[in-house]
Amino acid sequence: MLRNIKILLAVITIILMALDAAAAGGRQLVIIDPAHGGDDAGVKITDKLGEKEITLAIALALQKELGKDGKIEVILTRDSDSNVSIEERKKKVEKAKPDMFLSLHINAGFGKSVSGFEIYYPGFMENRERKKSAAKNLQARYLNESVKLAKLIEKNLNTIFPRQSRGLREADTPILEELTVPALVVELAFATNPEDRKKIQSPKIQAEIARALAKSIKSFF
Ligand SMILES: [Zn+2]
Repeated sequence: MLRNIKILLAVITIILMALDAAAAGGRQLVIIDPAHGGDDAGVKITDKLGEKEITLAIALALQKELGKDGKIEVILTRDSDSNVSIEERKKKVEKAKPDMFLSLHINAGFGKSVSGFEIYYPGFMENRERKKSAAKNLQARYLNESVKLAKLIEKNLNTIFPRQSRGLREADTPILEELTVPALVVELAFATNPEDRKKIQSPKIQAEIARALAKSIKSFF
């Protein structure tokens, strides 16, 4: 009889441990990276406004939006106008081991007529030595998930930038290198395009972008 009780207790313990693990796994962790900050203003939007301000505003709005139902926890790589190096940002990701990493930028260049958004997922350049590294192999496992998220973001950003997706692109971006989580860089609008420049400064559009990104992240999970 005692033996049976011991077995029963063991079974109950295992069930409780499994339930605990499931509960812990139920909450997703997302790291949002408002690119640039501090001395690094990023691309110039106006004389007084830089990319760093816009990326922070959208990241803060996105954090608020995602935090609403308590199922997703959001960590920002910076929550103020501070200097944070790419290495420090990556260390945060490595330490927190999130379920997703998203870096937000504003684009510029290619003349005044180019507008819209671009989404970058981690690149796999052939002639790189680190391709052989364990981290690179691990990262490959997350490539499909990164692309899946990129497609969702592309779909949802299309409502704000109609027919202005410049596509999903593979890139060897330093911030994405060797990250072993689904990870993307989203380049929102072109500071060099007059319409985009006006649009991206609007708090209403920034809130819409945050909602579109939040919707994409939620559908991804
Ligand atoms: Zn940037």
